[in-house]
Amino acid sequence: MKIITLRDGKERSLLRRHPWVFQGSIANGKADAGETVRVQASDGRFLAWAAYSPSSMIRVRAWSFDEAERIDAAFFERRIAAALALRARLAVASDGVRLIHGEADGLPGLIVDRYGDTLSVQFLSAGTERWKKTLTELLVKLTGASRLYERSDSGVRGLEGLEPATGWLHGDGDTAVSIHEHGWQLTLDVAQGHKTGYYLDQRDNRKRFADWVRQFGSQSVLNCYSYTGGFSVAALAGGAQEVISVDSSAAALQRASAHVTLNGFDAARHQAIDADVNGTLRQLLKDGRRFDAIVLDPPKFAPTAAHADRASRAYKDINRLALKLLSPGGLLLTFSCSGGIGAELFHKIVAGAGMDAEVNGYLIARLEAAPDHPTTIAFPEGEYLKGLAIVQC
Ligand code: SAH
Repeated sequence: MKIITLRDGKERSLLRRHPWVFQGSIANGKADAGETVRVQASDGRFLAWAAYSPSSMIRVRAWSFDEAERIDAAFFERRIAAALALRARLAVASDGVRLIHGEADGLPGLIVDRYGDTLSVQFLSAGTERWKKTLTELLVKLTGASRLYERSDSGVRGLEGLEPATGWLHGDGDTAVSIHEHGWQLTLDVAQGHKTGYYLDQRDNRKRFADWVRQFGSQSVLNCYSYTGGFSVAALAGGAQEVISVDSSAAALQRASAHVTLNGFDAARHQAIDADVNGTLRQLLKDGRRFDAIVLDPPKFAPTAAHADRASRAYKDINRLALKLLSPGGLLLTFSCSGGIGAELFHKIVAGAGMDAEVNGYLIARLEAAPDHPTTIAFPEGEYLKGLAIVQC
């Protein structure tokens, strides 16, 4: 067993059960990619069993803080079973569920989404890459899924020195699948869709949006960064008469339009605009348009805190435009999925946007990722999606 010894004082985060050790905290020790290592403090005290990643800034990701635990197939079986047990108790209103959410489930770098009987999986760290075969077998065995598709093509794999990898690891066939979310039928492609195919983290917010649209009687809805139109279907289900989806992906918009008719809504109630959101918001303002409800769910503008400044300006800009486009008493759902922008900062950015737009609003809810994308108390960095539901006043 190879040993990684930390610099004096650098043991604190592992002692708090935070699973990462950065390159600069290591005094000595080396191992192969994904190899299990013993991490110890400068005085030799045991801290964690971990996976070593030679080319990543995050040099070590902890598997276990229990010295008596062995990192083997039985260990991974226990961790996967615990993650599945949580999901079973959450009673998720969909057969699209995040089963394993990386660090929060004690499996750093492993993302597993279930779409019906198909699993779509990302192995994002050197440690999960090394254990891929074992993890695949266990996932199939413990979930009873008939197929498992690998979507390890996220950019973060590059930081771990890993090449992209995609394809069936178990079963095969058509990569198009469909799920039922709150009774709505939604389709996706595990090979072509974003991330593992769909944005499951917004599931519960889509339902809340449908409920608000109904309660407020919102007639016209603008869904910005719509992807395949999850919030658009929600708006129609809530009774909206006119919904516009805006996204820069033509393929996503095609699917959004298909989702409208698939769920029994008249295609005439939906319009898809293939364009940049910022430019579209400006054009709609120029045209004198107003909307009873607007959703802003942009991609990650700030991947890390280092990008926070530029991202803040981009968030502020679209929020200012959206607030100006609201009808009196209109509803805005605004999100940030940037890990580098905390909830407090996001609120400040939206406050600044309100000042510039000369619009105030009631904050009727703070929104977050659905609970099958949990955060743990030991790893607050895991919190990424935050949103505000605002009613213009
Ligand atoms: N709200 C969606 C998820 C949005 S993900 C849901 O519930 O499923 C972010 C989306 O923004 C992606 O579909 C991406 O294609 C789109 N996008 C990224 N940059 C964009 C831009 N500048 N203008 C318009 N769309 C953009």
